[in-house]
Amino acid sequence: MRSPLPDYLTEVLSVCSEGKGATSDHIPELKNADPDRFAISLVTAEGVTYSVGDDDTEFSIQSISKPFVYGLALEERGFERVLDAIGVEPSGEAFNEISLQRDTGRPLNPMINAGALTAHALVAENKTPEYRIRAIRDLLSSLAGRELEVDEDIAASELGASFRNVAIANLLRNYEIFPDDPDDIVAGYVGQCSVKVTTADLAMMAATLAGGGIQPRTGERIFSRSVVRQVLSVMATCGMYDAAGDWLSTVGIPAKSGISGGIIGILPGQLGIAVYSPRLDEHGTSVRGVEAFERLSHDMNLHLMEAPIVSRSVLRRRTVIGEGSEAFTFLELHGDIHFTNAEGVVRALVEEPVETQRAVFDLTLVRAVLPVGRRMLLEMIRRLHLDGIDVALVDPEEQLPDPDAGDGYRPRVFTTLDELRDEFAGSPE
Ligand code: GLU
Repeated sequence: MRSPLPDYLTEVLSVCSEGKGATSDHIPELKNADPDRFAISLVTAEGVTYSVGDDDTEFSIQSISKPFVYGLALEERGFERVLDAIGVEPSGEAFNEISLQRDTGRPLNPMINAGALTAHALVAENKTPEYRIRAIRDLLSSLAGRELEVDEDIAASELGASFRNVAIANLLRNYEIFPDDPDDIVAGYVGQCSVKVTTADLAMMAATLAGGGIQPRTGERIFSRSVVRQVLSVMATCGMYDAAGDWLSTVGIPAKSGISGGIIGILPGQLGIAVYSPRLDEHGTSVRGVEAFERLSHDMNLHLMEAPIVSRSVLRRRTVIGEGSEAFTFLELHGDIHFTNAEGVVRALVEEPVETQRAVFDLTLVRAVLPVGRRMLLEMIRRLHLDGIDVALVDPEEQLPDPDAGDGYRPRVFTTLDELRDEFAGSPE
């Protein structure tokens, strides 16, 4: 069978309108981009790439670098230092707005230029622009899974026209947001924005965020889960500048655009998407990029606010096996144990109390236990024990390691159903 996915993506390419918008005039060299280029790439959390159109065309990453450099600053300097320097409030303004918080001079968020210049400076204080560009290029290369280069023509072109960014950097320096020379910060930041990527690279970088910080091809952990959560939250609220609300309601996933014509989007846990088409709208965002994302979101049900199908109870089976003092209640769980799923189990045990002296939770088919699920399972075990019930677990995958239920009580753990059967006669196969 031939995969239908490339065919579907090719269809999206062909139906998205042509001709609207114009290449950026913000950076002279960007004006020369071929306006008809169009590519879509998609990388799953398992690292599989589906890519169509001009997916080998390289273009400068521009503002799509911002969320990744913000993540790097968080990793290098810690949350406290970074949050102290850069806010997380949407500005609802254009990317290059000279907007700093009154009194403190703190940039509103890391997606507008003021915040991005600050994140760039935080990556390595008082170091040369070359040092910071190198560190950022290395980061972007490990995210993409290949060695990326800086487009020196684009960098020179932007640097020669950076009057506004130089003004913002000087304001930031004036408020002592960073200690560096503002010209150095702009030079480094321009290098960061000029790293050359393809949509396949960008989708891989986005998939790393989708996978909680682990690069899906190399398996390298690049960001911690808490950094990814922070980066995605800021992308969701501020990633599309003054169109952020519009984007969140229509497309519904965290995203970042760049004025060279790229857009990335992330569906946490599932995939990273990148689109490239250099004709821009009045927000500096790719016209066909937005259109393609709207279609993908609609067709592939990507919108994060779409209520997921309510999962059935995780209590797959409940049976009483055996008789008298040998009897036990066998509780087979499956799927993911998060809050509402665990609540379903709690309710089942409250509404219909366990009437045997022994109970077994079978976790063989459980896929994942979230921290809240763990706490609730252990509390159920503790309360069952208070009611005089002895609890055992079957836990081949160690979904509930070190099950200390509190009050000095630990349930017995069997690693296979076979092992359980030796002591709990009549246990299911
Ligand atoms: N290098 C550009 C700037 O700072 C990036 C803007 C963008 O892509 O939105 O002005």
